[in-house]
Amino acid sequence: MSGAAAAGGRIVVVGSLNADLTIYCERLPQPGETVHGNGFAVNPGGKSANQAVAAGRLGGHVSLVGAVGDDPNGHMLLASVAGAGVDVGRVRTSTSQPTGVAVIAVDAGGENNIIISAGANGTLSPADVAEAADVLDGAAVVTLCLEVAMPTVLAAAKAGHDAGAKVLLNLSPYAHIPSELAGLTDVLLVNAHEAALFLGPGASVPGAGAHAAQWDAVRERFAERGIRQVLVTLGAHGSVVLDSDAPANRTVVFVEPTSVSAVDTTGAGDAFTGAVAVRLAAGDGLADAAAFASVAAALATTRKGTQAAYPEAADVERRLR
Ligand code: ATP
Repeated sequence: MSGAAAAGGRIVVVGSLNADLTIYCERLPQPGETVHGNGFAVNPGGKSANQAVAAGRLGGHVSLVGAVGDDPNGHMLLASVAGAGVDVGRVRTSTSQPTGVAVIAVDAGGENNIIISAGANGTLSPADVAEAADVLDGAAVVTLCLEVAMPTVLAAAKAGHDAGAKVLLNLSPYAHIPSELAGLTDVLLVNAHEAALFLGPGASVPGAGAHAAQWDAVRERFAERGIRQVLVTLGAHGSVVLDSDAPANRTVVFVEPTSVSAVDTTGAGDAFTGAVAVRLAAGDGLADAAAFASVAAALATTRKGTQAAYPEAADVERRLR
């Protein structure tokens, strides 16, 4: 890994922006029940906006392709994303739909439930991807998640692939993907739950502490499905790199967790994804990118909030020294 998180090639993130509307309460309401909350916050979120902000803070050269409504939530999101140095010139303002929202209830134990209303995100279409051809053509990495419609994700993956970019797909929130999308994906980013859903019944995805041989069997299952490079995140237990293109003794690499006092793990996965994109765009291999991302994501858990908690490159470099 190089010393500084240099900007590297362009990263194009195509996907969602949501306002996170969070109510804190003692316990979550049962169906039909009303409970009193004890706090409320509106924060910028949405997986793609989070990933773009994470990458921008880390020094990446990032463009976001998405859609917001012409409303205060949209303005807040654009300000947050642009504040991280991300180009928001391809975030379209929808005239028909409000900005997407996630309505989140969090109880005293940190348990939550979340309802997402896609709003403008639901209008992001293959035509928007075509409109962004100028940035996609020069991309080194195209970063995708599943909070926007599958045809849009597929169009962005195709555009990225045709431009010679690495296509990084975060399979979240989990949905079945067409085999064409799997074939266009260079690096799949999943947590253990998403990995198990993708591989389907009969596939066991081991937990923390499993042996390399167990993970190698998982790597083979992914390769059979056309995915040759996979990063599996394991929360506080770190992550595992499954690389079918690596030399035989490097097909499974464990990335130890970075030891921190976590106070809020929301959006750790998006911090990880944004950081991986930055290092892949700078030319790192997958294992080095994962090692850098492990530090960035761990640091993101040490502060409350999501985008506001994401670290800068210098914070990560200091920790890596
Ligand atoms: P989310 O959807 O909440 O963002 P996720 O399931 O996509 O989460 P996780 O596997 O929980 O993602 O976390 C991503 C990465 O963040 C982990 O692989 C790890 O590197 C880092 N991480 C998460 N929690 C911790 C923690 N408590 N301590 C250190 N690192 C952590």
